[in-house]
Amino acid sequence: MAAYDPNNVFARILRGELPCKKVYEDEFAFAFHDIQPKAEVHVLVIPKGAYVSLADFSATAPDAMVAGFWRAVGRVARELGVEERGYRIASNIGREAGQIVFHFHVHIVSGARRP
Ligand code: AMP
Repeated sequence: MAAYDPNNVFARILRGELPCKKVYEDEFAFAFHDIQPKAEVHVLVIPKGAYVSLADFSATAPDAMVAGFWRAVGRVARELGVEERGYRIASNIGREAGQIVFHFHVHIVSGARRP
């Protein structure tokens, strides 16, 4: 696994160096709208820590961070109002799987797809 790059785009968003459309923040997680939404609702949830992917996060993050992060994912979906109609979560792990930003993130996707 490649080393974490502290200058990846999501690290820069977390530090406030790049703008984003924020939807949620707590001590473990930060959520914002995807810049190229693939559906009516497309939000990204990221942990507040230096984790390359789910592979890295699941192996190395402290238990409190793992629990806090996944609770935040559920909470963000609830607050977005997508629970009733349903939503999909996805996380790409590695370049071949389509990961382009190497800071662990979960996509929350719901509603009509966009091209
Ligand atoms: P992945 O392919 O899983 O690494 O997904 C990365 C996602 O980040 C893509 O859906 C991009 O549209 C999104 N993205 C890239 N840069 C930004 C940004 N500055 N703000 C919000 N979303 C972004």
